[in-house]
Amino acid sequence: MKLLEEKILSEGKALNKDILKVDSFINHQVDPVLMAQIGEAFAAHFKGRGITKVVTIESSGIAPALMTASALGVPMVILKKQPSQILNDNLYQTVITSFTKETNYELTLSKKYISEEDHVLIIDDFLANGEAATGAIRLLRLAHATIAGLGVLVEKSFQPGREKLVDQGTEVYALARVGAMDTDHVEFLPADDE
Ligand code: 5GP
Repeated sequence: MKLLEEKILSEGKALNKDILKVDSFINHQVDPVLMAQIGEAFAAHFKGRGITKVVTIESSGIAPALMTASALGVPMVILKKQPSQILNDNLYQTVITSFTKETNYELTLSKKYISEEDHVLIIDDFLANGEAATGAIRLLRLAHATIAGLGVLVEKSFQPGREKLVDQGTEVYALARVGAMDTDHVEFLPADDE
């Protein structure tokens, strides 16, 4: 998506070879016009596939996931980062290794909101090592839902996330694909919508 790539070039900041800061339009302040276009782009690609829910991970996935859910006319469900809840029969839980914070956290999903009848599109802001998306898929499988695919705003293609997910049979659709970066320099590969 050209608009997203332009925003990354004008407002994003590569801190080093690994971390891209996009605080002014995705992670801290949110650009609603960009998010609406992102929602339309994901919906255009995934429409007609019988998607019943859009699922995201709090908190940076919520804005694009909501716009995608709105464009598809289905609910959005947020996977929550919570401390482990022992013996809670109403929750599915799994542990994720965080790329940016280098720590582990627990991701939870209430059994009320996803069932075996759901066909789910997962939306997240970044795809790096694929840990967050793989954990989301683990939770959705515990609920016996099926996965339509993963839509991400930014894929860092030099990290192994896409390969990991595609190897597991999950389609990845990225609106911007960073092939390489370094301090104040970002190079793109052709995105999946081009
Ligand atoms: P993964 O689980 O694929 O390794 O990492 C994905 C998660 O880590 C995303 O949900 C995102 O929150 C965060 N993340 C990974 N790389 C970056 C990055 O370069 N910049 C930002 N802002 N977040 C990132």
